[in-house]
Amino acid sequence: MLANHLISLEERYGAHNYHPLDVVIERASGAWVYDVEGRRYLDFLAAYSAVNQGHCHPAIFKAMCEQAQKVTLTSRAFRNDQLPLLLKDLHELTGFEMALPMNSGAEAVETALKAARKWGETRKGIPAGHTQILVAENNFHGRTISIVGFSSESQYRYGFGPFPSGFDRVPFGDAQALREKITPDTCAFLVEPIQGEAGIIVPPAGYLREVAAICREHNVLLICDEIQSGLGRTGRLFAFMHDEIVPDVVVIGKALSGGFYPVSAMLASREVLGVFSPGDHGSTFGGNPLACAVARAALRVIVDEDLSERSAKLGAYALNRLQRIRSPHVASLRGKGLWIAVDLNSPARPFCEALKERGVLCKETHDTVIRLAPPLTISQEDLDWGLDQIEAVLAPQEDSSVDIDAASRNTVNA
Ligand SMILES: *Cc1c(COP(=O)(O)O)cnc(C)c1O
Repeated sequence: MLANHLISLEERYGAHNYHPLDVVIERASGAWVYDVEGRRYLDFLAAYSAVNQGHCHPAIFKAMCEQAQKVTLTSRAFRNDQLPLLLKDLHELTGFEMALPMNSGAEAVETALKAARKWGETRKGIPAGHTQILVAENNFHGRTISIVGFSSESQYRYGFGPFPSGFDRVPFGDAQALREKITPDTCAFLVEPIQGEAGIIVPPAGYLREVAAICREHNVLLICDEIQSGLGRTGRLFAFMHDEIVPDVVVIGKALSGGFYPVSAMLASREVLGVFSPGDHGSTFGGNPLACAVARAALRVIVDEDLSERSAKLGAYALNRLQRIRSPHVASLRGKGLWIAVDLNSPARPFCEALKERGVLCKETHDTVIRLAPPLTISQEDLDWGLDQIEAVLAPQEDSSVDIDAASRNTVNA
């Protein structure tokens, strides 16, 4: 079978740093993906929210093809005609004064950390080499050495030290704990408004607003990592908008390209992004014309198709439907917009395997959580069909063929 052949090639010649579901995707369109055997699946992960616009969106595809025929990479040794237009679009859409484009999310986070430290030394007057950056427990900001160095997940750190110093963790959702940890050397607090990889952890209402006030009071930069929560996923353009605040720095990525190309960016005020002088920071591919053309088209889709509003509406509908399911397996439900965590009483992997058999792709996070995050372009009809499958797996009828215990026995654990 072609799928088994491809899987064995990947296992033999590739590093085993992931434990994917054994579905080998060959093509995709909108909310649907197709495997090499011609089976189709409804995508309820959307590449961790990188394809909020749906797979292979025609408008983004068109922009990418048109730009790829003209010029793709200049490096920033020279200027290109797309970067200024993306910067202007980002300013007009988000209100932030300046932006610095990078490629991956982790790179944009690193960029924000560097900017925050330099701001701390040169603007706040923190002695050189003494800046402290606070982060949240159970954070996820990417996989570089400095970022995993302040992770509270031991697997992310194990074997990769030594790590840079100058980072300290505070509990997520506890503004008072943040206040107590701030010192005169604190230059920034880096936080996800809703923690995605931790299992879509929504903090208590008003948390971010309190955090913003504390940061302002102590002249500490508030950096919101909106790489997964941003660009429509939670029912607003950014998750911080639910708290009616404006952070000092925002980091975006993932859906910034609609899944076509790695594009990320740091957004901030002139005071913060102004700390960089020529030579301070850079990236060969960052701000390249292909990335900028793709990102402009991806942003336009989010606006033109009202994806934030769709997320709010469809998310409320989906959560309501899920809440009505009576299942012995479900411990709790939470989420915002079309970003919902189904927290189970037992490992989620067998349920994800059972859903795959029924044509729905989900991925477990943190063992017991199924994360539901379909493309925001998903139709009401497809969403309902996907929820039907989830219901069938979580609350099987007597005559159902789904047998979670059997699926569990067949699962090889990571
Ligand atoms: C995915 C993610 C990142 C890392 O992005 P990469 O493109 O994988 O480097 C950082 N922060 C958050 C919140 C994410 O979800």
